Amino acid sequence: MSANTRRPFFCGNWKLNGSIAESIALASEVRNGVATHREADVVVAPSFTALHAVAKRLEDGPVAVAAQNCHWEDKGAFTGEVSAPQLADVGCKYVILGHSERRQLFGETDKSLALKVPAALDAGLEVILCVGETLEIREAGGHIGHTVGQLDGSLDGVTREQAAGLVVAYEPVWAIGTGKVATPEDAQEMCAAIRERLSAVHGHAAASVRILYGGSVKADNMAAIMAQPDIDGALVGGASLDAGEFVRICRYREQVAET
Ligand code: PEP
Repeated sequence: MSANTRRPFFCGNWKLNGSIAESIALASEVRNGVATHREADVVVAPSFTALHAVAKRLEDGPVAVAAQNCHWEDKGAFTGEVSAPQLADVGCKYVILGHSERRQLFGETDKSLALKVPAALDAGLEVILCVGETLEIREAGGHIGHTVGQLDGSLDGVTREQAAGLVVAYEPVWAIGTGKVATPEDAQEMCAAIRERLSAVHGHAAASVRILYGGSVKADNMAAIMAQPDIDGALVGGASLDAGEFVRICRYREQVAET
């Protein structure tokens, strides 16, 4: 399957930002901006506190809602955690798992992800799994082994059928929130390695997995990244807090046509 047959996918990760009112306003602007554009899956990931309100506002429209994390147990004595069934209950379609900020700041491991991914899938959520290397690892030449290792560790136990519906986001840690973007060629090299590994483990299922690039994506660098055969979209942090910029990213093809 060529990149052209996979539906482009764009997710705005709002991180720890926004009141309920601000989140509803941002979500509404995104929805209005992509209302006539049905060529991509568009997703926004507000903070937990705004998920329900945003999901209600976006109900039956073209923009879906993701959470930024979940716990692996459905319920129980896990103070402060939120479960996958609870996220489905508030209207989430997706959950982002393994973001580098969770790995670096909150002790997320491949082992915990290997529990979270099946829990999310069992709850009917679709998973956006994040992987990627630090600058130190890249400079030492270990970036592919490290990132593919994260993929293997986080997806341990996932079936071929489940793998086919995954979204994987390659996010080099050194590019997140720094303004430094991977070159399209470097991003492609890693996304191809990810697809190759998925293919080795899950066979044909790998061809339908959407693989995203994430790391300082903006409207003006999206088209070059999307021209790569194994890159199917983007996970967008900072730029997704600006509805106009995020909509331009989702509608990157029109930017190309205009220039
Ligand atoms: C992210 O947080 O997933 C991300 C890619 O952030 P930014 O776009 O700000 O680099």
